[in-house]
Amino acid sequence: MAYRVTLIPGDGIGPEVSEAARRVIDATGVPIEWEVREAGMTALESQGDLLPAATLESLKRNRLGLKGPMTTPIGSGFRSVNVGLRQELGLYANLRPGKSLRGVQSAFHDIDLVVIRENLEGMYTGIEFDTGTTAAAEVIDAINERSKRQIDGSAAISIKLITPAESRRIVEYAFEYARANGRKLVTAVHKANIMKFTDGLFLREAQAVAERYPDIAFNDRIVDNMCMQLMQKPREYDVLVMPNLYGDIVSDLVAGMIGGLGVAPSGNIGPETAVFEAIHGSAPSHAGKNEANPTAMILSGALMLRHMGERAAAEQVEDAVAEVIAAGKEVTYDLRADRDPSKAATTTGMTDAIIATMAS
Ligand code: NAD
Repeated sequence: MAYRVTLIPGDGIGPEVSEAARRVIDATGVPIEWEVREAGMTALESQGDLLPAATLESLKRNRLGLKGPMTTPIGSGFRSVNVGLRQELGLYANLRPGKSLRGVQSAFHDIDLVVIRENLEGMYTGIEFDTGTTAAAEVIDAINERSKRQIDGSAAISIKLITPAESRRIVEYAFEYARANGRKLVTAVHKANIMKFTDGLFLREAQAVAERYPDIAFNDRIVDNMCMQLMQKPREYDVLVMPNLYGDIVSDLVAGMIGGLGVAPSGNIGPETAVFEAIHGSAPSHAGKNEANPTAMILSGALMLRHMGERAAAEQVEDAVAEVIAAGKEVTYDLRADRDPSKAATTTGMTDAIIATMAS
C-alpha cells in the first residue's frame, strides 16, 4: 500500500526544490501518494490564511509532511507558519543531522553529527512581557517579593520554561534515534552550572533517561564549552540533545560546519506527525530561475524516508547526492568554487543527475 505524504511546496524557490525532492523520492520506488496542500504566502493569497485548516487536516491524517520554504509576510499580526505547525501538531523534536559531503566548500571535513533540539519550551515559550507594560510591572513586583535579587521596573521579561516531562521526552527521542541509527553516544548540552533549576532539571532528567539505555554512551557538556569543542574536536561527538535556544544556535553552527544552508536538512517530529524541510528560506532572488540548490530539500526527503523506516531508499538518495556533489560537475552555482552560474547545473539538471546516479 502506498504511503500518503502531504507536500507543501511553499513559495520563492520552494516549488522548484520541492519538485526536485518529490522526483528523487519517487525514483527510489517507495510508493508515495503526494497530497499537495498550501501554506504560507501562497495560502494567504488564495485562501486568506497562512495555515489553512485543510493543510493541517491533511498533515494530521497523513502523519507525514514534506514542506518547502516560505517567505515570512512582513507586518505584525501574522503568526509564523513554522510556530503554528509546531504547536498544532506538537512537533516537539527538531532533528538536524550535519554530515559533511565531499565537494562542498567548508573549513571542516568528515563531520557526522546529529543535533536534536527541544522545540516547544525552553526560552521559546512566547511568554513575554514588554518593557513599561502593566503586565511586566505586575510580574516584576511578584518576583521582587520572592527574590533577593531585585529586578529593575523597566525590564522586559521572557519566561524560560523547562518541564520534567518534556525534558524526558526529548532525551528519550535522542536515545531512540541513536539506537535506531546505529549511533554510539548521546551528549546532553546545557548551562546547568548557572541555570541550576531549569537546566539543572533538564540535566537530571537526561541522566535518568540515559540509565535506561546502557547500550548507548552518555555524557554532558556546558553549551559554551560544547561550541568550542565542536570547533576543536567535532569527531568526539555524535548525537547532541539540548533545550530550545541552545539547539537553535548549535544546529546552525553545525550546519555551517558542513557547508551551510544549501545542504542542511531537518525534521520536526511529533508523537503522531512529522514534517521535514530544508533549513534555508525561500531565497526570493533565485525564485523561478531554475538555479536553486535542491540538495537540502532532497536530503530532507531522505530524512523522511529514514523516519518511515525506508532506510535502504534513504541511503540510496543520500549516496547519490554525495556522489553527484563529489563529482562536482552537475551541481548548482553555490556548490561551485567559482560560483559561476554560467558553468553551473540548473536545479532540474542537478536533480536529473542525482536520479541517473541512483539508477546506475
Ligand atoms: P534564505 O535562506 O532564503 O537565503 C539566504 C541566502 O542563501 C541567500 O543568499 C539565498 O539566495 C541563499 N540560498 C538559500 N537557499 C538556497 C538554495 N537552496 N540554493 C541556492 N542559494 C540559496 O534566507 P533569507 O533571505 O533570510 O530569507 C528569505 C525568506 O525566507 C524570508 O521571508 C524568511 O523569513 C524566509 N525563511 C523561511 C524559512 C522556512 O520556511 N523554513 C526558513 C528561513 C527563512
